[in-house]
Amino acid sequence: MTELTEPAPFTLEYAPSKESTAVVSLRDEYGLWIGGEWVEPRSGNTFPTINPATEDQLAVVAEAGEEDVDLAVTAARKAYDGGWRDLPGRERAKYLYRIARLLQERSREFAVLETLDGGKPIKESRDVDLPLAAAHFFHYAGWADKLDYAFAGRRARPIGVAGQVIPWNFPMLMAAWKLAPALATGNTVVLKPAETTPLTALLLASVLEDADLPPGVVNIVTGAGATGAVLVGHPGVDKVAFTGSTDVGKRIQTELAGTGKRLTLELGGKAANIVFEDAALDQAVEGVVNGIWFNQGHVCCAGSRLLVQETVADHFLDRLRSRLDTLRVGDPLDKNTDVGAINSQKQLDKIRELVASGVDEGAEIYQPACVLPDKGWFHAPTIFTGVSASHRIAREEIFGPVLSVLTFRTPDEAVEKANNTPYGLSAGVWTEKGSRILWMAERLRAGVVWANTFNQFDPTSPFGGYKESGFGREGGRHGLAPYLELEPV
Ligand code: NDP
Repeated sequence: MTELTEPAPFTLEYAPSKESTAVVSLRDEYGLWIGGEWVEPRSGNTFPTINPATEDQLAVVAEAGEEDVDLAVTAARKAYDGGWRDLPGRERAKYLYRIARLLQERSREFAVLETLDGGKPIKESRDVDLPLAAAHFFHYAGWADKLDYAFAGRRARPIGVAGQVIPWNFPMLMAAWKLAPALATGNTVVLKPAETTPLTALLLASVLEDADLPPGVVNIVTGAGATGAVLVGHPGVDKVAFTGSTDVGKRIQTELAGTGKRLTLELGGKAANIVFEDAALDQAVEGVVNGIWFNQGHVCCAGSRLLVQETVADHFLDRLRSRLDTLRVGDPLDKNTDVGAINSQKQLDKIRELVASGVDEGAEIYQPACVLPDKGWFHAPTIFTGVSASHRIAREEIFGPVLSVLTFRTPDEAVEKANNTPYGLSAGVWTEKGSRILWMAERLRAGVVWANTFNQFDPTSPFGGYKESGFGREGGRHGLAPYLELEPV
């Protein structure tokens, strides 16, 4: 009699499919883009920007000091008073449309540069960051001539000069989230990209030039946190929009209190992704994977806490671990890569420290047997089970590819555990019952609640936080309000 053996698990071998970098031409050094021109930094200071996947230097970038920021704010004020404020909305819209079209035309170049400078997989920068960035400009181009209809009984006026500080996790997309509504509403801007990812914002300057945007309407000042602090504190700035860590956001809010400057903050998160026993479990596994391993978990709304109903927890976690084993970690320029490089050595150290705390505090760690590249900053996708609410990995934003799993028995307990965080940016609910989705959404204290999906972004949909995740909304009609004075008609 022939003995029956288990069939070998089906595996697929992937040949490397590396995106060419020929489409990108980098300069050795970049100045500041102020008043529609490239200028040398008065500070005399520069800093290198590094490819996190190889640790090679990509370029040297100017570090704007007080005098540089002052020049940029002065240029933005001149452009505001000199015509941008009074330009009819239909004319502003034309610039926004042009920017959107130019971004579409050059999207491969931008996507490759985003991946080189930031470490995210090319398939994400190509299929998510760039299309969404262009979509934001298109969306707000459509609003530019309809502002008086957007808020019933109110007349919409621009605020003035906006100082915008953005982070490194979605450099180009965050620039679009900030610039598109500000320009559509008639404001001018000084934008400060993150220290580790300045290059796509600097490339955007060439798009703004090609779109014939009047000089000074957008100014781009690169630098580190100190440059951001100078911009935020500059007396010529009327409105501050900040996306980044909760610590820095709190500092900015304290500093701006009483100054009359308008402020919006989009800060950290520790979102719950909640899986009920009646959910389509295979679909939920994909949603959990997308929720935490998209962009290496460098996502403020990442589903970093999985709450799974106790009755299906073992079964669900088996499937999740098997799926994790198939994720491909490595070269971000390879089109097969699912998890790319960690953005900086500093961020990798932070992730490692928090992962070590999870092990020390008694949670059980699972990592697939993946081989990490020798060079560059990489971290294996990680799942912690046996996590309790008091563990640091359940409370603190790790901002890396690390999932903490907790279980629950009843919907009330799921809500209680999901809301047991100082943050409130997003949440996910997986269940086949529509009534349960609505019941949960009413009780979850999160700016966005996704149902049977996760990390879905659309320019028409407002995004923003509760509690320590910040305030103000970006996207959609709501995203216009932070850039407008709304006067009674
Ligand atoms: P930061 O909040 O320090 O950085 C965000 C942006 O603010 C960057 O452009 C930064 O410049 C700038 N900045 C820093 N300090 C100041 C200041 N005092 N005044 C004005 N601007 C300032 O985040 P980190 O890069 O240090 O990341 C730390 C943690 O923050 C991450 O581990 C993650 O938990 C969280 N984070 C959350 C993000 C989100 O989207 N909610 C995005 C990024 C980080 P520079 O880059 O030069 O420091």
